[in-house]
Order: sequence, then C-alpha cells, then structure tokens
Amino acid sequence: MLLIKNGRVLNPATKNDAAMDVLLDGDRIKEVAEPGKTSASSGQSQNGLEVFDASGLIVAPGFIDIHVHLREPGQENSETIETGTRSAARGGFTAVCCMPNTKPVNDNASVTHFIIDRAKAAGGVRVWPIGAASVGSKGEAIAEIAAMKQAGIVAVSDDGKPIATAKLARQVMDYCRSLDIPVIEHAEDVSLAAGAVMREGVTSTRLGLAGMPAAAESVCVARDVQLAELTDVRLHIAHLSAKGSLEQVRSAKTRGLRVSCEVTPHHFTLIDEDVQYDSRYKMNPPLAAREDREALLAGLADGTVDAIATDHAPHEPALKDVEFDRAPFGITGFETALSLALEQLVHTGRLPLMRMVELFTSGPARVLGLERTIAAGRPADLTIFSLDRPWSFQAAESASKSRNSPFDGRKFKGGPVATVVAGRFVHKT
Ligand SMILES: [Zn+2]
Repeated sequence: MLLIKNGRVLNPATKNDAAMDVLLDGDRIKEVAEPGKTSASSGQSQNGLEVFDASGLIVAPGFIDIHVHLREPGQENSETIETGTRSAARGGFTAVCCMPNTKPVNDNASVTHFIIDRAKAAGGVRVWPIGAASVGSKGEAIAEIAAMKQAGIVAVSDDGKPIATAKLARQVMDYCRSLDIPVIEHAEDVSLAAGAVMREGVTSTRLGLAGMPAAAESVCVARDVQLAELTDVRLHIAHLSAKGSLEQVRSAKTRGLRVSCEVTPHHFTLIDEDVQYDSRYKMNPPLAAREDREALLAGLADGTVDAIATDHAPHEPALKDVEFDRAPFGITGFETALSLALEQLVHTGRLPLMRMVELFTSGPARVLGLERTIAAGRPADLTIFSLDRPWSFQAAESASKSRNSPFDGRKFKGGPVATVVAGRFVHKT
C-alpha cells in the first residue's frame, strides 16, 4: 500500500480542491480522506505501507498525453518505448497515446500487439496505441481498424500527414463511428504546405525560408468538421495551431458536433518570430503568428481546447542537427510540458490551476471516451507536482534518447515531482 499524505488534491472531475490523504492499494485507489483520516494515515513506512509526504505539493489525477511519438518499432536510435515512457514519467505523464507512424506503420493488429507488449516489458507509464487510418498511412486503402481496436488501439490517425482525401476520410469516419473510437486528424492541406519549413509571414521572408500559410491547417479542419457532421464521428484535431482552425472547432462545438482539439506547449509558448536558423524550432505545424498564440491562450481558457498534448517527436542528432531546410519536423516535449503550462498559463494568471490540470487529465480522457478522477476504486494513477520549485531543463540529462528541444537550459518555476502508475512510483525526484 502507498499513502500519499498532506497533498493538495486537485480533481477536475469533481472540482474538488482540498488537502487530502490518498491511500493506494495495489493498482486501485482505496481511500481518499481528510489528512490523518484514512485507515493508514497514522502509520509510518513499514509493514507493507509506503508513505509519501506531499505537503506543499499538488496531487492530481494521472496526466494523459494524447499525442506522442515513441519511434519504436523502426527508429530506435531516436527513441524506444522504454526511453520514451521513462521521459514521459519524468514529465508527470501516467499514460501516453503513441502515433502509428513507426516503421513499420501501426496499421495492423500485430504491430499494435508488439507495441503493447514492449510497453508492458518497460513496466512504466501506460501506452495506448493509436492505429493508422489507412494502410501504411498512404491514404489509399482503409487500415484494419476493427482488428486493431480488438488489439487495443484507442483512436486512429494518419498523423505526420492528414487522411489523404475527403472520400477516404469519410470512409474512415463512418467506420470509426460504428466502432465508437475517435479519428485524430493532423490537419494540413499538403498542396498549400508543400516545401514549407515554417509559417509564412514576415519572419519567413526575413529568414528566407519557405513558409506555409495558416490556411494550410484551417482548410483541412474545415473539410474534416464538415465530414464529422456528415458521419457523426468523434473528430479530434491534433496540434491545432491557427486561429482560423480554433474558430471552426468553437463553432462546431456550439452546433453540438463531437469535435475536440489539442494544443501543444510549444504553440502556446513560442511564435514564428522566435524561429532561428536552428532546427530545434522546426516542427509541424510550424510555430504560428502572435495572434494565433493569443487565440490559443483564449481557447485554453474558455474550454474550446480540450487537451494539452506534447506531440513529443524525438529525432537523433544525426538526423536533426542539420541545416534548417533539411531537418525533420518535431521536438521532444514530455519533460517540459507541465512546467511550460505553469509558466505560460498559471503563473501569468491566464488560467486557474484547476483548468490547467483538466487539460492534462479529464480533458484528454474525455477525447478518448474515458474518465480521470481521484476516487475510491479507480485506477491508482497520480501526478504529483510543485507550483514553485525552481529547476532548469537540461536536454542532455533527459531520459529521452533525443535532445531536440528549443527549451534546453530554460529555467522553470514548478514542475513534476512524482508520478504514480497502478499504485507504484514510476518517477520520483
Ligand atoms: Zn502531426
């Protein structure tokens, strides 16, 4: 048994915010009670009881990262399921949803089984695979979605690119509607984005880099929202970065459509003006304009945005440490996500702490059709963090195999302290 005592328990599912003791028994929460009031609260660490003093810390439901790349199978030089999940645990995440763009692509049940088996062997945070929408994510034929669902996928996506055509997207949505799983869309009009390495604007002109307009994203969001209306599927827009896309999600929600979206920490922290000739600022969608970031911050506050997701995208130095034009898109994200959210959203007063926690817990859970709460009988997954502990992120010391973060060396106030999955610590500082 594990007793987390004297923490400030913040539970967005019930809106509870109070000092509580949480007693975990095996992989379940056994009791939640006022400090000193659980059946084990008077005890010390002994006789099978471990006590963790969370005084001065926040105890939240286990964080879920709905959009990550673990690179295994196929690109183990950049990350493995073991190193990726260790990095996730350090970042406070108790469950991660891994995108299917591995080598081979997770477009059939045997790859799904492989990922789940590797995650079990790693024994850390929970890994919930996302299956490809189309065979090889090539956008031609629909993948074996039902078989993958049976094997354990929680959603489908052709992430890395959009589902290639409206016709195929409709077919995938019809299918996922009947299976009751969400379609996660990497919204990008590839004809508008072709050849681009950053967002189109004054900065791309000044740097002499090829830019893609915001419409490269929002045109595809428009297509997909209309198809979601046609098919009544649960549509989730990945790494939404543009104001125009957000407005469409907001209007879709007002009309009662089952449309949701996520925003990454880098998109609510940085803008295109921050881009330098440094591939650690190259990601897709690219860093957006100042007004986009303002819109995202508003959407995070007002409920239009459902989840914060990292889009953790590790790349080994041999691939990433090349000139900007030639580098692959993507940055690592697990270990800086919570601290960036505290820095940008909470310490600035833009969001109440409860709302920020919701964006890491019940928000992403809802997208997946799950619940996330701290209550007796529920899974013993908890994220324990500090609001004020100073620390700095050193990419070289990260648990990830890759180092491609624009936040290397950044100083933070507050961050993850301990991560509990199924009743045991997978990370503790
Ligand atoms: Zn993507």
